[in-house]
Amino acid sequence: MLFDNHHRPISYLRLAVTDRCNLRCFYCMPEEGIRYVPKKELLTFEEIERLVRLLAEMGISKVRITGGEPFVRNDLMKLLNAIVGIPGIEQVHLTTNGVLTAPHVSNLKALGIASVNLSLDTLDRQRFRDITRRDEFDRVWETFQALVKNDIPTKINAVVMDGKNTEDIRPLAALTKEYPVSVRFIEEMPFNGEGQHYPVLHWTHSRILAELTRIYPTLERRPDPPHATATHYQVPGHPGDLGIIAAFSRTFCGTCNRIRVTAQGDLKTCLYDSGVLNLRDLLRLGHSNATVKDILLGAFSNRPKDGFEAESRRSSPDIVESMSTIGG
Ligand code: SAM
Ligand code: SF4
Repeated sequence: MLFDNHHRPISYLRLAVTDRCNLRCFYCMPEEGIRYVPKKELLTFEEIERLVRLLAEMGISKVRITGGEPFVRNDLMKLLNAIVGIPGIEQVHLTTNGVLTAPHVSNLKALGIASVNLSLDTLDRQRFRDITRRDEFDRVWETFQALVKNDIPTKINAVVMDGKNTEDIRPLAALTKEYPVSVRFIEEMPFNGEGQHYPVLHWTHSRILAELTRIYPTLERRPDPPHATATHYQVPGHPGDLGIIAAFSRTFCGTCNRIRVTAQGDLKTCLYDSGVLNLRDLLRLGHSNATVKDILLGAFSNRPKDGFEAESRRSSPDIVESMSTIGG
């Protein structure tokens, strides 16, 4: 097993395969003026595969494919196929906005994808359009139905935004009555390519919980799986469950087992750091696997203890990255 300098196991890689996206979510990207990474600066499929093999040999057993929108990258299914076959990788998960996903769902099932996180902040078509700046609700809903039909464990991720979708907390939570899915409400983070949207965060994890408890007074706390970022709840009698992710308040750092690799190969040992080294450059310089592993071990032994320490160590103090480059 792989451990960091705070004795936390590292077993989970979140890999962004592109920074490009077919939506423009308010909380993630500005509407215009996005500068995508030039294609030659993205990790190639061969580089990704080599990296995952290497990390699997070191102790990574779980991989999440994310982006940008993963399905915007050509031949994504080919890459997924390669990653599920890497020895040591026990679970491959996917995070998607669902716009292009529905036609691939039965193949995802056949590949044995462990779960899919579908980002969906509202069930109202007009609000979907306002938040994502694209009229794609119907295709996302089609993906949701296909995931449920194919029995793929599904989590809906909804970012809670003041003045944008708080009226959606109720209908989104109500999905757990009809479907065996997990609906997770996420605090908005300042990774929108511009900085913070609010001087203070209005919808904190405790306010979200208060709202869920108001809607469902019988709401029950459920045990959280190891290394979970969400705190779990369930309405008695509902097949699905609810989660709240304190992504901005950062209450879960003590058990964090994740590292991130961005589409251009930056290694992040914390969501809030500004990248600790570039793996694409290391690979393209022709280093051996043993050297790359040594360099990775060096980075893992210098992990900040939490997101606040990571933020204080940033090369530039302002957070202006878009989440589309990080992968969530
Ligand atoms: N495009 C895919 C999608 O939307 O599912 C994958 C990438 S997206 C960056 C991954 C997750 O990050 C999504 O669930 C999205 O809601 C979340 N996210 C993006 N920006 C965020 C922000 N500023 N605060 C909180 N969550 C954010
Ligand atoms: Fe695209 Fe996902 Fe960001 Fe929305 S959250 S703009 S779908 S990368």
